[in-house]
Amino acid sequence: MSVEIPVIDLKSVKKYYSRLNEKNEVSVLRGIDLSVYKGESIAVTGPSGSGKSTLLNIMGTLDKPTSGEVFLLEQELGTLTDDEISLLRNRKIGFIFQESHMLPQCTAIENVLLPTIPFPEKSGNDYEKKAQDLLDYVGLGDRIDHYPYELSGGELMRLAVVRALINDPVILLADEPTGSLDNESSKVIGELLMKLNRETGMSLVTVTHSSDLSGMMNIEYKLVDGSIQKVR
Ligand code: ADP
Repeated sequence: MSVEIPVIDLKSVKKYYSRLNEKNEVSVLRGIDLSVYKGESIAVTGPSGSGKSTLLNIMGTLDKPTSGEVFLLEQELGTLTDDEISLLRNRKIGFIFQESHMLPQCTAIENVLLPTIPFPEKSGNDYEKKAQDLLDYVGLGDRIDHYPYELSGGELMRLAVVRALINDPVILLADEPTGSLDNESSKVIGELLMKLNRETGMSLVTVTHSSDLSGMMNIEYKLVDGSIQKVR
């Protein structure tokens, strides 16, 4: 019998912030246990300031816990150097944030190709073909030479999704991906994320305030007082 290994596994993760001139530390995460398996789609909800972004950043190796362990594909991050963690992050994790964070001086396809720069082993043509295919997939195939200022908010977010996918991540982490979009564009992004999750088997973790978006995910957790609760 095979035992499924989580893609990301958090064990007793705590995060405190010490504040200058203040006696008490700010305790954001008070011992989080969370396993994300292949193909799962997870929403993390909770009030503003409850630690959702902190949790997502720790899952994505952008931040380190004060204590506890984080496993990414069975590797405990505390045993790796910062360079090893960066490599693992670039290869295995795709990120989408509330803003698209495109480089304004680069075209759509150049922005998509930026995360491939550390991995020159594939030829440029392979990456360009893949970028073109992905841009076609999200309906931006005829916008590859457009600059970010020529694209709408919804189009920029679809471009951000493509950029997050270019290195074939095993997990996509999204922090309020529809937070700055109108209802129609939010629906398009939510449906795109779910389609990718179904068709590629890539795991998806989304921090969101939107009940429409969280409702699309298979699993919903809520962060309250530094603890995580499964809502459904
Ligand atoms: P959410 O994403 O749920 O809105 P965050 O993870 O952004 O919450 O923040 C959780 C709490 O941690 C907030 O009270 C915030 O002020 C605090 N916090 C976040 N980053 C820092 C930091 N670098 N130093 C001190 N406090 C921080």
